[in-house]
Amino acid sequence: MSKEKQFVTEITPQSEDFSRWYIDVIKKAELMDYSPVRGCIVFRPEGFEIWEHMRDELDRRFKETGHRNAYFPMFIPESFFMKEKEHVEGFNPELPWVTEAGGEKLEERLAIRPTSETIIGHMYSKWIQSYRDLPVLINQWANVVRWEKRTLPFLRTTEFLWQEGHTAHELESEAREETSQMLDIYRDFCENYLAIPVIMGQKTPSERFAGAVDTYSIEAMMKDGRAVQAGTSHYLGTKFAVAFDIKYLDRENTQQFVHTTSWGVSTRLMGAMIMVHGDDRGLVLPPKVAPTQVIMIPIGPPKTREQVVGRVDELYAELKKAGIRVKVDDRTDMSPGWKFNEYEMRGVPIRLELGPRDMENGQVVLVSRISGEKRIVQQSSLKEEIERMLADIHHDMLERAKQFRTDHSYSVETLDEMKALFEEQRGFALAGWCGSEACERQVKEETGATSRNIPFEPAEHKKTCLVCGEKAEHSVVFARAY
Ligand code: AMP
Repeated sequence: MSKEKQFVTEITPQSEDFSRWYIDVIKKAELMDYSPVRGCIVFRPEGFEIWEHMRDELDRRFKETGHRNAYFPMFIPESFFMKEKEHVEGFNPELPWVTEAGGEKLEERLAIRPTSETIIGHMYSKWIQSYRDLPVLINQWANVVRWEKRTLPFLRTTEFLWQEGHTAHELESEAREETSQMLDIYRDFCENYLAIPVIMGQKTPSERFAGAVDTYSIEAMMKDGRAVQAGTSHYLGTKFAVAFDIKYLDRENTQQFVHTTSWGVSTRLMGAMIMVHGDDRGLVLPPKVAPTQVIMIPIGPPKTREQVVGRVDELYAELKKAGIRVKVDDRTDMSPGWKFNEYEMRGVPIRLELGPRDMENGQVVLVSRISGEKRIVQQSSLKEEIERMLADIHHDMLERAKQFRTDHSYSVETLDEMKALFEEQRGFALAGWCGSEACERQVKEETGATSRNIPFEPAEHKKTCLVCGEKAEHSVVFARAY
């Protein structure tokens, strides 16, 4: 078997086993490796750099909207968790505890943070006294731990990296505005940075964050038709303010509780990005987060090699100076064909080829990872051509993902219809729901699909509940989810 053939067969085709495909790709592209502790993963440099690009862009957007970063400790006293009943009930099963340290048993157990509402609430009660101290707009970049039963690299790990925003406001209206502003930042980031279309909406009460008044989410569809909750934004009301005594003197000199919010996205976004765009040849990385945006490959016989490589190096320096993430692969012990496969597998958006003929014509060949489209462009306008092609690739990726979602979105009227649908297919099914938890539970039991969210802009307004046939309060997106 030729080297090139062997290469592709190491990746399981998506249609054969999507989960196997996913693991093959993330390991082969060296994004991650497993750690000795179940459910924890190592981010290898290629994977971590993708996260860094996401982090930098989100951080920029948070700061642009007035937030500042801070850092709070990872150890949270047990008594803090006991203060908010729903919060402790929701998180208790997933908490890891430190009971002993320095050879001694601790007087009070310490949880390793699964999220930081409690410790931050405690601090805010000290920092906030008057309406003049509000709003408080803080974000934290951190690792958190949730002892998940089912894990999958990036998508659901026991330790994961994320950001958690925690804000406190005078008025409910301001806190609600913040909650929706941050959800919209997540949507815009997913679409315009990761080329992932998402559905914005409200979670049903049973899917709410433990301790929230309202939870909103963005939901994305993977290439196997399953859903991923890509980000959440919570309006917490005054629940944490009451639990942690976060009060302020208002403009009329009376004591009031603050209204708080929290919002987060995690390294799960990496898993979503891989599952939305990847194909049987490997990763397909959105240009804005790809560690390498352009791979330059000199080609041609040994006698012209020196000249070709010399020109490639000059162009490399130009592109690098222009801020394009570019690399040269001038190894002579690998064939161009082998290299083409290698960088396709790694998801590099553009391959640039330069051979002796191109030298003569003052041209280069650009090849798009996603479509295979070739563009022969002038070296003199290379920077502009590459920037245009990167923008086109992003656009193309987003459009394809939207089309895929459209092709796998369904509308159902009854539970039987939904059962039949999910026996055959994966995708998003829009259905009417009366609002009762029992009906929602029945959907899950009988179809394996859970309510993803109540979209702000549903494709249609359903009239009746798919389970009981009563009047529908909401139109809900249901799907099998990761
Ligand atoms: P939450 O605090 O539960 O609203 O979670 C905030 C975000 O973190 C979610 O929207 C997910 O995208 C992400 N997330 C939750 N649990 C995990 C996990 N075990 N692994 C990776 N990401 C997670």
